[in-house]
Amino acid sequence: MALWHKLRASALRSDQETICGSETLSVAADSPISTQIRMQALVNFFQEWQAIATVIGLTLLLVWESFRPFFAFSRDRSSRGIHIIRNLLLGAVNSLVVTLAFVALWILTAEWAANSGFGLMNWLASDRAVIHGVGAILLLDAWTYTWHRMNHRFAFLWRFHRVHHADKQMDVSTAGRFHVGEIILSSLFRIPVIALFGVYAWELVLYETIMFTVVQFHHANISVPAWLDRALRTVIVTPYMHKVHHSRVRVETDSNYSSLLSVWDRLGRSFRIRSDPDAIEFGLDDPALDGERLADLMKMPLLPDHPKQGPDGV
Ligand SMILES: [Zn+2]
Ligand SMILES: [Zn+2]
Repeated sequence: MALWHKLRASALRSDQETICGSETLSVAADSPISTQIRMQALVNFFQEWQAIATVIGLTLLLVWESFRPFFAFSRDRSSRGIHIIRNLLLGAVNSLVVTLAFVALWILTAEWAANSGFGLMNWLASDRAVIHGVGAILLLDAWTYTWHRMNHRFAFLWRFHRVHHADKQMDVSTAGRFHVGEIILSSLFRIPVIALFGVYAWELVLYETIMFTVVQFHHANISVPAWLDRALRTVIVTPYMHKVHHSRVRVETDSNYSSLLSVWDRLGRSFRIRSDPDAIEFGLDDPALDGERLADLMKMPLLPDHPKQGPDGV
């Protein structure tokens, strides 16, 4: 984020010099500079909360998994520890790549759209903050659903995405287990999406924070009462829903693509639930993709395509 702060500081300095022609200035409360400063303060606020929410969510869910797991962990504690560390390491590298290479681009794109009045939400609700915020979050979540579905539909994208699905012992750490190639591709696609939707930078950070908290929750290997899962999945994606998505049976893998709101799977006719979630087997039905070392996961996109059909022909 240091790069971003430098960019913002220099942009503000040049604006101030252009307008005032001197070192000292007073900024009118409704001036474009004041609006930019307020926007930047919101982005900083939500970015701090994003980091805090990720750590708190991870910690609470790790404790919950330890005391009330849905599937019993293996007696060998070191295998659980290695699995968690490996997945968290992948997640940490991915967030470093995103922070260094993409966050500043996303924010500059959002600012360009806001300043030039470009993008769907800026056309529809530029002077109505609540409608703008809710609309932006709905559009971003609809895009996340569409992008995820594309990852299952197109063979090239699936080569990267299957690193996430190859995990045979899903837990909260699986929430960050993605190939860096998938992260780079989704981050690149997000640039035009931000512009087309006219999303503000703080709306993007707020969406990411809420969405990733729910993603941690539905990957966690936690016992949730069936009635509670049923009630929650009328709105958000729950552990029972996402377990089906991680099933080895391909027709189940190709369902439940939503990340935050479950409504997209209902609208897209991809919603699927099982009455026996404890019988679901995680992973991919291809022994060539069983390797769990970091090197195996990094090389996975180079391996041949996973067969489209499961062993039971569905
Ligand atoms: Zn998937
Ligand atoms: Zn998942």
